[in-house]
Amino acid sequence: MTRFAFLFLFLTYSSWAQSQAVFSDINEQLTLTSYTHFTVTSAPTLTGNEQWVSDASHLTRKPDEYLHFKVTVTSPHSTPTPVWLNIIFPAIKYLYVSDGNNQWYTGDALAFTTREVDVPNYHFPTILPAKGSVTFYGHMQGEILRYSFSVATPEKMTNNYISILQRDMAFFGAMTILTALCFVVYFATRKLAFLSFAIFILATTFWFFRVFGYAFKLLWPTLPALNDISYAISIYAVLLSAFWVLFATLKRPGRKVYGYKPIRLFCFALPFIGMGVWRIAGLDLALKLPVILFVPFLFISAIVIFKEHKRGSGTAKWLAIAMLPVSISTLVLVMIALSNNLYAFDPIAMFMIGLLLTCTFMIVLTSNYLVRVLQSERDSEKAIAELQSKQTAMLEELVRERTKELEASNKMLTELASLDALTNLPNRRSIDLFVDESFETPPSAGNTLAIGLIDLDHFKSINDTFGHDVGDIVLRKIATILRPLNNEDTIAGRFGGEEFAIIWRNIAARDSKASEFYQVLAKVHHNINTLVVDELEGKRLGACIGWTLCNGPDDIVDAFRRADKALYKAKDKGRNLIIHGR
Ligand code: GH3
Ligand code: MG
Ligand code: MG
Repeated sequence: MTRFAFLFLFLTYSSWAQSQAVFSDINEQLTLTSYTHFTVTSAPTLTGNEQWVSDASHLTRKPDEYLHFKVTVTSPHSTPTPVWLNIIFPAIKYLYVSDGNNQWYTGDALAFTTREVDVPNYHFPTILPAKGSVTFYGHMQGEILRYSFSVATPEKMTNNYISILQRDMAFFGAMTILTALCFVVYFATRKLAFLSFAIFILATTFWFFRVFGYAFKLLWPTLPALNDISYAISIYAVLLSAFWVLFATLKRPGRKVYGYKPIRLFCFALPFIGMGVWRIAGLDLALKLPVILFVPFLFISAIVIFKEHKRGSGTAKWLAIAMLPVSISTLVLVMIALSNNLYAFDPIAMFMIGLLLTCTFMIVLTSNYLVRVLQSERDSEKAIAELQSKQTAMLEELVRERTKELEASNKMLTELASLDALTNLPNRRSIDLFVDESFETPPSAGNTLAIGLIDLDHFKSINDTFGHDVGDIVLRKIATILRPLNNEDTIAGRFGGEEFAIIWRNIAARDSKASEFYQVLAKVHHNINTLVVDELEGKRLGACIGWTLCNGPDDIVDAFRRADKALYKAKDKGRNLIIHGR
């Protein structure tokens, strides 16, 4: 009996002690979670036989069951105190709340406009009577994230709301800037890694925008049906784009990233897996799935990054460093999302710091990457310029060589055209040209020619006696006598057959022109007479020379006729003679 009395007293005391939430300081927000009692039912109404517990995390509840709560708040103040009951950070489908006088029906499945106070999360205004108490009770259905109960004055809550709003907007602003930066870098470099990072940040930002309640307050206040689908799309997009960031950043030309194929297959299958879970196990688990999968994602990332680092990827280690802050803060967020017991952290502030650090690393990585891209572009431009100038130089050299060769072959052709093939002496064409050129300059006194024609004696009999080849040898020997005479004003060439010609021009410059010319002819004649040709077996050569002076351009034809005549005269007179034709 005594034992029962003690137990009764203890239970009464403990239940009294726990349910006495005293709202003594009106400047503070009073957390009610440890004063709140919970029970689970399958129907929204209570039978009175329920077991109430003080820690909701110990209750097992199917998503379609109802979580009931009750909490009493006592006011020590001597005047009535207006307060809000706040149910923060829930993702509840239906919420029913009463303070004994008022009843409110709201929740994510109802339009945002059903909310009592027009800010995200749930606030219910009531008045604590002077030195009295109010018991709040109600129930909710559907749960994804943790929830907390508190009371505070409307002024305190509004101030809190403003500072949270400032924090959130700074957060969204930072996320938007980072997204824009990644998009810009993607369009500048066309590197998919930056696009993937932009999409990841966009998805994460939108997820927060949705979870904080801004999305359905600002974007679709009267369309509660969009709440679940927008949450589903954003949370699946966060996980899928996180995988994309991992593989896009580690991608190297011509190499598959470690684990790429199975993980890609998994990513394609994930939306279908989610839909299957939704059909079989319900929406709550389907929406929780990507949050749960974030832990394996971080392990997989660590393995892939480690393997790629081992395979010699330069980016892997930097990606690991860049991803570390956002990974750790995401891990903490996931733990908070999956548990009701971590109150020591402000998860959002923590995530913001993590993201900020990752941003800084990504900006450093990006600028480092851009610097390398610009450097390699500059290097390749330089290399191209060098190659071009080298090629130009080579081409110029080639043109120079070709020009030289062409000049040489032109010279050779000219020489070939102007030289006699057998004797290499100037040919008849050269002799004619020489004569023509001599009269191109304006004729001055004495600007005239001396003409000597040479014909070998009995050459036919040399051919006949020793053969045509020996005749050729003789002609070439004669050429050795004549060739040295050639200069600017003298031509000594083969006129045809076994006839040769020696012509002087500008002879006005010479003192005793006729005798001097004669001296040269006599010397040539002597050299022919004394020429030794072994093949002739001691036979001596003779030649007739007829010569004359030309008296200007009008006399040229006649001068040649005179020289020719003198030549025949020499033949007539018994050969081997020099005769002046007058
Ligand atoms: P001459 O002048 O003393 O009256 O007697 P010739 O024997 O020299 O008479 P002609 O001028 O008629 O004969 C010239 C010969 O020169 C005829 C031809 O066979 C020979 N001849 C002409 N051109 C060449 C040549 O290129 N090579 C050789 N081997 N013989 C040539
Ligand atoms: Mg002849
Ligand atoms: Mg002859």
